[in-house]
Amino acid sequence: MKGFAMLEIGKTGWIEKERPVCGPRDAIIRPLALSPCSSDVHTVWEGALGQKHNMILGHEGCGVVDEVGELVKDFKPGDRIMVAAITPDWSSLEAQAGFPMHSGGMLAGWKFSNIKDGVFGEYFHVNDADANLAHLPDSISPAEACMLSDMVPTGFHGVELADIKFGDTVLCIGIGPVGLMSVAGANLRGASQIIAVGTRPTCIEAAKFYGATDIVSYKDGDIVEQVLELTNGKGVDRVVIAGGNVDTFEVAVKALKAGGKIGNVNYLGSGEYIKIPRIEWGVGMGHKQIVGGLMPGGRLRLEKLAKLVEVGKLDVNPLLTHKFTGFEKVEDALYLMKDKPKDLIKPVVTL
Ligand code: NDP
Ligand code: ZN
Repeated sequence: MKGFAMLEIGKTGWIEKERPVCGPRDAIIRPLALSPCSSDVHTVWEGALGQKHNMILGHEGCGVVDEVGELVKDFKPGDRIMVAAITPDWSSLEAQAGFPMHSGGMLAGWKFSNIKDGVFGEYFHVNDADANLAHLPDSISPAEACMLSDMVPTGFHGVELADIKFGDTVLCIGIGPVGLMSVAGANLRGASQIIAVGTRPTCIEAAKFYGATDIVSYKDGDIVEQVLELTNGKGVDRVVIAGGNVDTFEVAVKALKAGGKIGNVNYLGSGEYIKIPRIEWGVGMGHKQIVGGLMPGGRLRLEKLAKLVEVGKLDVNPLLTHKFTGFEKVEDALYLMKDKPKDLIKPVVTL
């Protein structure tokens, strides 16, 4: 089969590979729609996961079941399915401890385009099919389903990590597709003021659509000063980090009230250390919590998030700014994600 791959750090190309083999609990999927992610860009061009040779890229997609193993109960060939970017081993001890994304080792629930071939192939393999696939509802298009693979669950996980509650004042750093879904998630959770940080006009418009009340540009001066001004000098209750870099944690701690929480879902592709400002961290006693997490994955979460789309409480279409048709367009879509033109939020390829 054909796949679009990372050949080595900094290099991509089309390769031929054997069709993946289906184990007793697994499924083999033919993609219906695919979307590249900023994480693919970190992986290829920053080498953030280390050297990889001829690894098929991609972890966002949906498709049709082509084959299932003999122990799979709820899916059969021909079923249209959704799948999350993170596909844990649900019988692992880590999953039993409540951290499926770390099943088999830290971040090892992230298998596609990390520890095995990703979804940008004519076929892709899904482990633990009954626990990691979900039926694609008729009312959700394949392009929309792609956003349920990663953008929605990751953005929403940032909201969970920051533990956003009714009436909270929230700072959302980054309004790319992930940050936009954090804004949407914060809004659904009942946040009051939502301050969103970003500069691209298309993203700003979408941030307002999803519930941002204020926009801050990190290019127009210090983020912390702007946030303090917008909150009468008080700072925010919660911060979600979905953009920036290792220095963004300093901003988040400074903008946060004592007792507040920071949820990070940004993939830190470079830099050795994260600095926490001693004074603003309450000289070590400010009860300012920082949690960074990979989203959990799994069928139940996928079905629940899809339900939000089905009933009309979440519209992912404003994310889909660039639409392509045909498998070979995956290459153009990935390069678009790398170059991030000003009007891009997310490219999607329908097959
Ligand atoms: P984008 O690059 O589209 O968005 C990044 C956002 O951060 C933009 O709004 C950008 O603003 C803003 N930004 C950039 N630099 C700064 C800065 N110095 N200070 C403040 N804001 C800044 O990324 P995505 O939304 O696609 O992804 C966000 C991150 O989430 C990525 O690192 C991605 O790899 C990661 N990710 C993590 C996952 C997980 O499970 N934890 C899964 C999927 C993705 P501007 O408007 O100027 O561009
Ligand atoms: Zn992704």
